[in-house]
Amino acid sequence: MKLRSNLALPLSLFLALSAAAALTKSPALPALIAANASREEEIARAAESLRAKLIETRRDFHMHPELSNREERTSRVVAEKLRALGLDEVKTGVGKYGVVALLKGRQPGGVVAVRADMDALPIQETLDVPYKSRNDGVKHACGHDAHMTVELGVAEILSKMRDQIRGSVKFIFQPAEEGPPPGERGGARFMIEEGCLENPRPSAIFGLHVMPNIEVGQIGYNSGPAMASSDRFSITVRGKKVHGAYPHDGIDTVVVAAECVTALQTIRSRRINTQEPLVISLGSIHGGNRFNIIADEVKLEGTMRTLNEEVRAKAIEMMRQTLAGVTSAYGASYEMEFVSNTPVTYNDPALVEATLPVMRKIAGEKNIISPRPQMGAEDFSLYQKAIPGFFYFLGVGNKAKGITAMIHTPEFDIDEESLVVGVKVMSNVLLDYLDREANRK
Ligand SMILES: [Zn+2]
Ligand SMILES: [Zn+2]
Repeated sequence: MKLRSNLALPLSLFLALSAAAALTKSPALPALIAANASREEEIARAAESLRAKLIETRRDFHMHPELSNREERTSRVVAEKLRALGLDEVKTGVGKYGVVALLKGRQPGGVVAVRADMDALPIQETLDVPYKSRNDGVKHACGHDAHMTVELGVAEILSKMRDQIRGSVKFIFQPAEEGPPPGERGGARFMIEEGCLENPRPSAIFGLHVMPNIEVGQIGYNSGPAMASSDRFSITVRGKKVHGAYPHDGIDTVVVAAECVTALQTIRSRRINTQEPLVISLGSIHGGNRFNIIADEVKLEGTMRTLNEEVRAKAIEMMRQTLAGVTSAYGASYEMEFVSNTPVTYNDPALVEATLPVMRKIAGEKNIISPRPQMGAEDFSLYQKAIPGFFYFLGVGNKAKGITAMIHTPEFDIDEESLVVGVKVMSNVLLDYLDREANRK
């Protein structure tokens, strides 16, 4: 497969250029236009010829899923494939099992990054397919196997087009997107701390996520907020323990916590603009140890989601205000800790605007759709805090084939034709970005 595409691509380019030259007496400009048009054709042909290999790669990852921060085999396979493609630098062990590789084009220009995540989920696969997970209780149920496959496909195609690349492409393979195990560092935050956005620093980053409620062939995007912020918080309410028959001698944290639960819900219903999405959910409450002892401590845990960083900051402030007011009214005290937080996945509007034309050209005008933002979260948002980024959704659903199960479910699967679409679109998006950068200078 690799050999054939090696031979076929330069030949097709040569034919396109010769045809353009033959049609006109002055070959310079028409030849250039033909070369640009033929670049898209070249990518399309290369992606088509990679179809079987992409499916094989995705199935291999799917059969060998690994949990967050345990992506040892996955990382090894990714690094081996990137080295085999002859990429200029392949760094491993970035942010634990992360891999960062650089592909230098032969023309001067800027740097653009593309990111795929690598981890699977603790979900038992229920699909009965030849590529069923061989790792009991673990499944690529968020499609990160497809994300890696697309990025490797892009690396393969672009590694054979260095002459046409103006600048460099940085390939980031990130572990632990679903969150590292308690007490461990991980994910995008750790990768950034370990310098994945430096030496060289990209001026923009692109990423994609599979989406089963978008049909294969289609691409979904949002300008501005695309996915929610996600904050996990824990609250401790402290009072005074006493015999249940003498509550006036203690401070009853069960009563105080109950008031806190109700009061916190009024932030959503009474205090934040009703047009702004906000979720504050308390998922657990624990306190007390005996029926006739007033509890001196109650712990509450919950999650908060928003699509707007201002709303997020306001809501956190209002939570503190509410908890301080309610607890002090009863002589109790509180502590609140945000144990993990992911900002809003915010697609830079100017970058989206500039990228849409090439996406429409490659995927087809009618196939580029703009659904509502997702209330799920993505740590891709952390890269977007550092540099402008665009995170879009790759349609992988196929109602006719019964492929409709959502991500994070035991039945989740993808229409594998989406891999070819993903490779075509992302390869062009990256080269198009580098062209725009080079033309600006
Ligand atoms: Zn996920
Ligand atoms: Zn995911």
